Amino acid sequence: MIIEPKVRGFICVTAHSEGCKKNVLRQINYVKSQGEIVDSPKKVLIIGASTGYGLASRIVASFGCKADTIGVYFERPETEGKLGSAGFYNGRSLDEFSRAEGRLSESINGDAFSDAIKGQAIALIREKFSQIDCIIYSLASPRRTDPVSGETYKSVLKPIEAPFLGKTVNTDTEQVLEIAIDPATEEEIEATRKVMGGEDWERWIEQLLAADVLAKGVRTCAYSYIGPEVTWPIYTHGTIGRAKDHLEQSAKNIQNKLEKLQGEAMISVNKAVVTQASSAIPVVPLYNSILFKIMKQKGIHEGCIEQMYRLFSSHFNANRDEVGRIRLDNLEMRDDVQREVKAIWPRISTENLRTLSDFGGYYQDFLRLFGFGVAGVDYGKDIEIS
Ligand code: NAD
Repeated sequence: MIIEPKVRGFICVTAHSEGCKKNVLRQINYVKSQGEIVDSPKKVLIIGASTGYGLASRIVASFGCKADTIGVYFERPETEGKLGSAGFYNGRSLDEFSRAEGRLSESINGDAFSDAIKGQAIALIREKFSQIDCIIYSLASPRRTDPVSGETYKSVLKPIEAPFLGKTVNTDTEQVLEIAIDPATEEEIEATRKVMGGEDWERWIEQLLAADVLAKGVRTCAYSYIGPEVTWPIYTHGTIGRAKDHLEQSAKNIQNKLEKLQGEAMISVNKAVVTQASSAIPVVPLYNSILFKIMKQKGIHEGCIEQMYRLFSSHFNANRDEVGRIRLDNLEMRDDVQREVKAIWPRISTENLRTLSDFGGYYQDFLRLFGFGVAGVDYGKDIEIS
């Protein structure tokens, strides 16, 4: 079968297995080129490990720290002549590459919000890992079923209180559009907190602690985003921002629970990058296109893998802010960078999108998420689907 990209709005519904594999390999090669990270975790559990920041975390853990890893993710497998999702191919490739270098690399494909998957991970740790010394929490999901109540919550990307009026770009048609989004209801704010807040992270840690599978000095880190003013109404001051506030509160609760192991719970505020989750947030793809142009011109552009190498190689200590968060977004938030973003923002339109921004680079990154446009892949070659 010849596999081509089929872009529908902010998602591509096809994925190229060879391209995804090469993407994983490119990130592995980057990590190897940076060198081994000493005094690093050796048994790492990554929740949300198949794409974006979670995949990059797992690659750094496995190839930079030389750690054994368990990756938990929720992806569509390749079955009966049907394509799998990009994350499925990434996870499969990562296991293959890691095992070839003698590391334990186990993947669990299922709903991380459920107690059944938590139980499966604990059984696997007991069987093959004994204990875990680092847990990365990198889930991004549109819905969550609460394992206690059985109720399913759907997250929304909406402003709070006032409607949002602003610009965005349609990735598919390359048009810069004015959009208006009504504020979220109280119910929607709460649902987004249930999905993207820290409740599930805390539940994972509680169950891992109760099972006695966490090592002394264990560290756990979840990811957040703050960004510039242009995205605040929809992000930091919106429903997702409220959920991230909850995630930060959960870090404090988890910290208390880990005291007896002298462990640490951390929040890392990461840079804006192209992932499946971020492509779906209004305004962000346009902001990223402008940001990338500026950061590339200044020679300070980073993707997921560069960010995660910085996180692990700084031993989770890079640029702590006044409330103790790790700030990997320090280059994105530099005054000179944000001043230039601010100057371009009001002028950007469909006509000048490709000159005032790096939309070309953004779109290339977007297609690469699904294994397309990857150097060295023969896209004319038949791909066998099992
Ligand atoms: P992503 O879409 O690339 O990855 C999401 C991961 O979660 C995938 O591995 C997916 O399989 C997994 N997942 C989703 N639902 C699941 C479920 N029910 N069970 C198991 N796994 C599930 O997202 P991302 O952008 O890498 O986001 C990861 C974290 O990083 C999020 O907390 C996000 O807010 C944060 N972050 C992202 C950016 C950015 O620009 N993308 C910036 C800063 C922080």
